[in-house]
Amino acid sequence: MKAFVKTGSRPGEADVEDVPVPEPGPGEVLLRVAACGVCGSDVHAFRSDPGFEWIRTPVALGHEFSGTVEALGAGVERVASGDRVVAVAIQGCGRCELCIAGLTQLCPDRVAVGLSRDGGMAEYAVMPEEHLVPIPEGLDLTLAALCEPLAVAVRAVDVRARVEPRQRVVVSGPGPIGTLCALVARLRGAEVLLTGIGQDAEVRLPAAERAGIRAANLSEAPLEEHLRDAFGGPPDVWIESSGSVRALESALESVRAGGTVVVVGLYAEEMRFFPTAAVRRELSLLFSYSCNRQDYRAALELLAGGDLDLRPLISTYPLERAPEAVEAVAAGRTVKAVLVP
Ligand SMILES: [Zn+2]
Ligand SMILES: [Zn+2]
Repeated sequence: MKAFVKTGSRPGEADVEDVPVPEPGPGEVLLRVAACGVCGSDVHAFRSDPGFEWIRTPVALGHEFSGTVEALGAGVERVASGDRVVAVAIQGCGRCELCIAGLTQLCPDRVAVGLSRDGGMAEYAVMPEEHLVPIPEGLDLTLAALCEPLAVAVRAVDVRARVEPRQRVVVSGPGPIGTLCALVARLRGAEVLLTGIGQDAEVRLPAAERAGIRAANLSEAPLEEHLRDAFGGPPDVWIESSGSVRALESALESVRAGGTVVVVGLYAEEMRFFPTAAVRRELSLLFSYSCNRQDYRAALELLAGGDLDLRPLISTYPLERAPEAVEAVAAGRTVKAVLVP
Protein backbone atom coordinates (compact mmCIF):
# COMPACT_ATOMS: atom_id res chain seq x y z
CA MET A 1 0.00 0.00 0.00
CA LYS A 2 0.98 3.65 -0.32
CA ALA A 3 1.79 5.65 2.80
CA PHE A 4 3.31 9.07 3.50
CA VAL A 5 6.20 8.13 5.75
CA LYS A 6 8.51 10.30 7.82
CA THR A 7 11.58 8.21 7.13
CA GLY A 8 14.25 9.92 9.22
CA SER A 9 14.89 12.72 11.67
CA ARG A 10 16.27 15.28 9.19
CA PRO A 11 14.00 18.18 8.09
CA GLY A 12 11.83 17.20 5.11
CA GLU A 13 12.96 13.58 5.28
CA ALA A 14 9.62 12.06 4.27
CA ASP A 15 8.14 10.45 1.20
CA VAL A 16 5.19 8.58 -0.25
CA GLU A 17 6.37 4.97 -0.14
CA ASP A 18 5.15 1.47 -0.87
CA VAL A 19 4.92 -0.38 2.44
CA PRO A 20 3.27 -3.66 3.50
CA VAL A 21 -0.39 -3.50 4.60
CA PRO A 22 -0.20 -3.71 8.43
CA GLU A 23 -1.80 -6.61 10.28
CA PRO A 24 -4.08 -6.04 13.28
CA GLY A 25 -2.85 -7.61 16.53
CA PRO A 26 -5.09 -8.66 19.44
CA GLY A 27 -7.65 -5.93 20.21
CA GLU A 28 -6.79 -4.05 17.02
CA VAL A 29 -8.57 -3.53 13.71
CA LEU A 30 -7.43 -2.84 10.17
CA LEU A 31 -9.05 0.29 8.73
CA ARG A 32 -9.33 1.22 5.08
CA VAL A 33 -8.60 4.96 5.21
CA ALA A 34 -11.13 7.19 3.45
CA ALA A 35 -9.53 10.60 4.06
CA CYS A 36 -6.83 12.12 6.25
CA GLY A 37 -6.44 15.81 7.11
CA VAL A 38 -3.05 17.52 7.22
CA CYS A 39 -2.51 19.10 10.63
CA GLY A 40 -0.03 21.72 11.80
CA SER A 41 1.67 18.98 13.81
CA ASP A 42 2.23 17.00 10.59
CA VAL A 43 4.02 20.06 9.21
CA HIS A 44 6.17 20.32 12.36
CA ALA A 45 6.98 16.61 12.15
CA PHE A 46 7.74 16.84 8.42
CA ARG A 47 10.17 19.71 9.06
CA SER A 48 11.60 18.11 12.24
CA ASP A 49 10.85 21.33 14.15
CA PRO A 50 12.02 21.76 17.76
CA GLY A 51 9.64 19.97 20.13
CA PHE A 52 9.17 17.08 17.68
CA GLU A 53 12.47 15.25 18.30
CA TRP A 54 10.65 12.42 20.07
CA ILE A 55 8.69 11.11 17.08
CA ARG A 56 9.36 7.54 16.05
CA THR A 57 10.78 7.04 12.55
CA PRO A 58 9.90 5.56 10.20
CA VAL A 59 6.28 6.50 10.89
CA ALA A 60 3.26 6.96 8.63
CA LEU A 61 2.09 10.50 9.46
CA GLY A 62 -1.49 11.69 9.99
CA HIS A 63 -4.00 11.54 12.84
CA GLU A 64 -7.07 13.24 11.33
CA PHE A 65 -8.56 10.35 9.45
CA SER A 66 -11.76 8.46 8.90
CA GLY A 67 -12.12 4.93 7.62
CA THR A 68 -14.01 1.68 7.36
CA VAL A 69 -13.24 -1.43 9.38
CA GLU A 70 -11.75 -3.99 7.00
CA ALA A 71 -10.39 -6.78 9.25
CA LEU A 72 -10.45 -7.64 12.95
CA GLY A 73 -7.63 -8.81 15.21
CA ALA A 74 -8.17 -11.47 17.87
CA GLY A 75 -10.68 -10.65 20.59
CA VAL A 76 -12.20 -7.56 18.98
CA GLU A 77 -15.77 -7.14 20.23
CA ARG A 78 -16.84 -3.53 19.97
CA VAL A 79 -16.66 -3.00 16.21
CA ALA A 80 -17.52 -5.11 13.19
CA SER A 81 -16.34 -5.30 9.62
CA GLY A 82 -17.78 -2.43 7.56
CA ASP A 83 -18.22 -0.04 10.53
CA ARG A 84 -17.33 3.57 9.76
CA VAL A 85 -15.07 5.06 12.42
CA VAL A 86 -12.55 7.70 13.39
CA ALA A 87 -9.68 7.02 15.80
CA VAL A 88 -8.88 9.22 18.81
CA ALA A 89 -5.59 10.92 17.93
CA ILE A 90 -3.98 10.94 21.37
CA GLN A 91 -4.58 7.58 22.97
CA GLY A 92 -4.29 7.22 26.75
CA CYS A 93 -3.44 4.02 28.62
CA GLY A 94 -7.03 3.83 29.92
CA ARG A 95 -5.90 2.80 33.42
CA CYS A 96 -4.23 5.80 35.09
CA GLU A 97 -5.97 8.45 37.20
CA LEU A 98 -6.06 10.96 34.33
CA CYS A 99 -7.50 8.45 31.85
CA ILE A 100 -10.17 7.38 34.34
CA ALA A 101 -11.06 11.07 34.79
CA GLY A 102 -11.54 11.27 31.01
CA LEU A 103 -8.36 13.29 30.44
CA THR A 104 -6.85 10.66 28.14
CA GLN A 105 -5.01 13.32 26.12
CA LEU A 106 -2.95 14.13 29.23
CA CYS A 107 -2.04 10.51 30.06
CA PRO A 108 1.70 10.21 30.87
CA ASP A 109 1.84 7.07 28.72
CA ARG A 110 -0.15 8.49 25.81
CA VAL A 111 0.43 7.37 22.24
CA ALA A 112 0.23 9.99 19.48
CA VAL A 113 -1.20 8.55 16.26
CA GLY A 114 0.91 9.45 13.23
CA LEU A 115 3.87 10.44 15.41
CA SER A 116 4.57 7.62 17.85
CA ARG A 117 2.51 4.97 16.00
CA ASP A 118 1.65 4.70 12.30
CA GLY A 119 -1.17 7.04 11.31
CA GLY A 120 -3.70 7.63 8.57
CA MET A 121 -1.77 9.13 5.65
CA ALA A 122 -1.91 5.68 4.10
CA GLU A 123 -4.32 3.37 2.35
CA TYR A 124 -4.71 1.32 5.54
CA ALA A 125 -4.08 1.86 9.24
CA VAL A 126 -4.22 -0.40 12.29
CA MET A 127 -5.83 1.02 15.45
CA PRO A 128 -6.82 -0.39 18.87
CA GLU A 129 -10.60 -0.90 18.95
CA GLU A 130 -10.87 0.91 22.31
CA HIS A 131 -9.83 4.20 20.67
CA LEU A 132 -12.36 4.10 17.82
CA VAL A 133 -15.43 6.35 17.71
CA PRO A 134 -18.36 5.46 15.42
CA ILE A 135 -19.28 7.95 12.67
CA PRO A 136 -22.99 8.88 12.66
CA GLU A 137 -24.97 7.51 9.74
CA GLY A 138 -25.19 9.78 6.73
CA LEU A 139 -22.07 11.81 7.58
CA ASP A 140 -19.66 11.99 4.67
CA LEU A 141 -16.32 10.27 5.41
CA THR A 142 -14.23 13.20 4.14
CA LEU A 143 -16.06 15.58 6.47
CA ALA A 144 -15.74 13.06 9.31
CA ALA A 145 -11.95 13.26 8.90
CA LEU A 146 -12.23 16.87 10.12
CA CYS A 147 -13.70 15.82 13.42
CA GLU A 148 -10.32 15.85 15.22
CA PRO A 149 -9.56 19.56 14.65
CA LEU A 150 -13.24 20.31 15.28
CA ALA A 151 -13.04 18.36 18.56
CA VAL A 152 -10.01 20.47 19.55
CA ALA A 153 -12.13 23.58 18.89
CA VAL A 154 -15.12 22.13 20.80
CA ARG A 155 -12.85 21.53 23.79
CA ALA A 156 -11.41 25.07 23.69
CA VAL A 157 -14.77 26.82 23.16
CA ASP A 158 -17.29 24.66 25.04
CA VAL A 159 -15.30 22.78 27.67
CA ARG A 160 -12.61 25.32 28.59
CA ALA A 161 -13.89 28.81 27.64
CA ARG A 162 -17.57 27.82 28.13
CA VAL A 163 -18.62 30.44 25.60
CA GLU A 164 -22.18 31.70 26.06
CA PRO A 165 -24.69 33.48 23.82
CA ARG A 166 -23.99 37.19 23.21
CA GLN A 167 -20.45 37.03 24.62
CA ARG A 168 -17.85 38.96 22.65
CA VAL A 169 -15.16 36.50 21.60
CA VAL A 170 -11.86 37.17 19.84
CA VAL A 171 -10.09 34.23 18.23
CA SER A 172 -6.50 34.98 17.18
CA GLY A 173 -4.92 32.86 14.44
CA PRO A 174 -7.04 31.92 11.39
CA GLY A 175 -5.51 28.46 10.87
CA PRO A 176 -7.83 25.44 10.94
CA ILE A 177 -8.14 25.37 14.75
CA GLY A 178 -8.74 29.12 15.03
CA THR A 179 -11.27 29.13 12.20
CA LEU A 180 -13.10 26.17 13.74
CA CYS A 181 -13.05 27.84 17.19
CA ALA A 182 -14.61 30.93 15.60
CA LEU A 183 -17.31 28.82 13.91
CA VAL A 184 -18.15 26.91 17.10
CA ALA A 185 -18.26 30.13 19.18
CA ARG A 186 -20.61 31.70 16.64
CA LEU A 187 -22.78 28.59 16.71
CA ARG A 188 -23.05 29.12 20.49
CA GLY A 189 -24.49 32.57 19.85
CA ALA A 190 -21.36 34.62 20.55
CA GLU A 191 -20.24 37.70 18.62
CA VAL A 192 -16.95 36.63 17.08
CA LEU A 193 -13.92 38.42 15.67
CA LEU A 194 -11.18 36.30 14.06
CA THR A 195 -7.81 38.08 13.83
CA GLY A 196 -4.84 37.42 11.58
CA ILE A 197 -1.79 39.19 10.21
CA GLY A 198 -0.36 39.93 6.75
CA GLN A 199 0.25 36.34 5.59
CA ASP A 200 -3.34 35.38 6.47
CA ALA A 201 -4.89 38.03 4.21
CA GLU A 202 -4.54 35.95 1.06
CA VAL A 203 -6.40 32.72 1.82
CA ARG A 204 -7.32 32.21 5.45
CA LEU A 205 -9.09 35.45 6.43
CA PRO A 206 -11.13 35.53 3.19
CA ALA A 207 -12.07 31.85 3.71
CA ALA A 208 -13.30 32.67 7.23
CA GLU A 209 -15.30 35.60 5.86
CA ARG A 210 -16.89 33.33 3.27
CA ALA A 211 -17.90 31.07 6.16
CA GLY A 212 -19.66 34.05 7.73
CA ILE A 213 -17.01 34.97 10.32
CA ARG A 214 -16.01 38.59 10.91
CA ALA A 215 -12.26 38.74 10.21
CA ALA A 216 -9.64 41.38 11.02
CA ASN A 217 -6.23 41.88 9.46
CA LEU A 218 -4.05 43.37 12.21
CA SER A 219 -1.40 44.37 9.67
CA GLU A 220 -3.90 46.86 8.22
CA ALA A 221 -5.38 48.48 11.32
CA PRO A 222 -4.57 48.24 15.04
CA LEU A 223 -6.44 45.79 17.24
CA GLU A 224 -8.18 48.54 19.25
CA GLU A 225 -9.80 49.83 16.08
CA HIS A 226 -11.06 46.38 15.09
CA LEU A 227 -12.38 45.77 18.63
CA ARG A 228 -14.20 49.10 18.62
CA ASP A 229 -15.76 48.39 15.22
CA ALA A 230 -16.73 44.81 16.02
CA PHE A 231 -17.81 45.02 19.66
CA GLY A 232 -17.72 48.66 20.74
CA GLY A 233 -15.50 47.55 23.63
CA PRO A 234 -13.19 44.85 24.98
CA PRO A 235 -13.91 41.14 24.46
CA ASP A 236 -15.23 38.89 27.24
CA VAL A 237 -13.27 35.90 25.98
CA TRP A 238 -10.11 35.56 23.90
CA ILE A 239 -9.08 32.24 22.39
CA GLU A 240 -5.42 32.32 21.32
CA SER A 241 -4.70 29.79 18.60
CA SER A 242 -1.93 31.50 16.60
CA GLY A 243 1.02 30.35 18.72
CA SER A 244 2.37 33.91 18.68
CA VAL A 245 3.58 35.27 22.01
CA ARG A 246 2.60 38.77 20.85
CA ALA A 247 -0.97 37.61 20.27
CA LEU A 248 -1.10 36.09 23.75
CA GLU A 249 0.20 39.36 25.24
CA SER A 250 -2.55 41.23 23.35
CA ALA A 251 -5.11 38.79 24.69
CA LEU A 252 -4.07 39.36 28.31
CA GLU A 253 -4.05 43.13 27.82
CA SER A 254 -7.30 43.36 25.89
CA VAL A 255 -9.92 41.15 27.54
CA ARG A 256 -12.23 42.96 29.91
CA ALA A 257 -11.71 42.78 33.68
CA GLY A 258 -13.05 39.42 34.82
CA GLY A 259 -12.56 38.07 31.29
CA THR A 260 -11.19 34.74 30.13
CA VAL A 261 -8.19 33.87 27.97
CA VAL A 262 -7.97 30.32 26.63
CA VAL A 263 -4.69 29.25 25.06
CA VAL A 264 -4.87 26.50 22.45
CA GLY A 265 -1.80 27.45 20.35
CA LEU A 266 1.68 25.98 20.73
CA TYR A 267 4.63 28.36 21.03
CA ALA A 268 8.20 28.33 19.75
CA GLU A 269 9.42 30.88 22.31
CA GLU A 270 9.03 31.87 25.94
CA MET A 271 7.12 34.94 27.05
CA ARG A 272 7.59 37.47 29.84
CA PHE A 273 4.48 37.80 31.94
CA PHE A 274 3.86 40.28 34.76
CA PRO A 275 1.02 38.69 36.74
CA THR A 276 -0.02 41.67 38.90
CA ALA A 277 -2.02 43.35 36.14
CA ALA A 278 -3.87 40.10 35.48
CA VAL A 279 -4.53 39.64 39.22
CA ARG A 280 -5.92 43.15 39.57
CA ARG A 281 -8.26 42.49 36.65
CA GLU A 282 -9.08 38.99 37.94
CA LEU A 283 -8.50 37.32 34.57
CA SER A 284 -9.02 33.62 34.01
CA LEU A 285 -6.09 32.19 32.06
CA LEU A 286 -6.83 28.65 30.87
CA PHE A 287 -5.08 26.19 28.59
CA SER A 288 -6.71 23.69 26.28
CA TYR A 289 -4.86 20.69 24.90
CA SER A 290 -6.04 18.42 22.11
CA CYS A 291 -9.30 16.58 22.84
CA ASN A 292 -10.76 13.39 24.28
CA ARG A 293 -13.38 10.87 23.18
CA GLN A 294 -16.24 13.02 24.48
CA ASP A 295 -15.04 15.98 22.40
CA TYR A 296 -14.91 13.68 19.35
CA ARG A 297 -18.50 12.64 19.95
CA ALA A 298 -19.61 16.26 20.28
CA ALA A 299 -17.73 17.20 17.10
CA LEU A 300 -19.21 14.30 15.12
CA GLU A 301 -22.69 15.32 16.29
CA LEU A 302 -22.08 18.90 15.15
CA LEU A 303 -20.93 17.65 11.73
CA ALA A 304 -23.81 15.20 11.37
CA GLY A 305 -26.35 17.81 12.51
CA GLY A 306 -25.47 19.99 9.54
CA ASP A 307 -25.08 23.17 11.62
CA LEU A 308 -21.51 23.61 10.45
CA ASP A 309 -20.62 23.37 6.79
CA LEU A 310 -16.88 22.82 6.64
CA ARG A 311 -16.80 21.97 2.94
CA PRO A 312 -15.65 25.48 1.90
CA LEU A 313 -12.56 25.10 4.11
CA ILE A 314 -11.32 21.86 2.50
CA SER A 315 -8.83 21.35 -0.34
CA THR A 316 -8.40 17.69 -1.28
CA TYR A 317 -5.17 16.16 -2.58
CA PRO A 318 -4.45 12.59 -3.69
CA LEU A 319 -2.21 10.78 -1.17
CA GLU A 320 0.60 10.68 -3.76
CA ARG A 321 0.80 14.49 -3.52
CA ALA A 322 1.14 14.54 0.28
CA PRO A 323 4.42 16.54 0.28
CA GLU A 324 2.73 19.25 -1.81
CA ALA A 325 -0.26 19.33 0.57
CA VAL A 326 2.07 19.70 3.56
CA GLU A 327 3.87 22.61 1.83
CA ALA A 328 0.52 24.28 1.10
CA VAL A 329 -0.50 24.01 4.76
CA ALA A 330 2.90 25.29 5.93
CA ALA A 331 2.61 28.32 3.63
CA GLY A 332 -0.98 29.06 4.69
CA ARG A 333 -2.20 28.57 1.11
CA THR A 334 -5.08 26.40 2.30
CA VAL A 335 -7.22 26.29 5.44
CA LYS A 336 -7.57 22.51 5.56
CA ALA A 337 -5.79 20.11 3.23
CA VAL A 338 -7.25 16.59 3.14
CA LEU A 339 -5.45 13.62 1.58
CA VAL A 340 -7.49 10.98 -0.19
CA PRO A 341 -5.80 7.60 -0.80
ZN1 LIG B 1 -4.78 17.65 14.19
ZN1 LIG C 1 -3.48 6.90 31.17
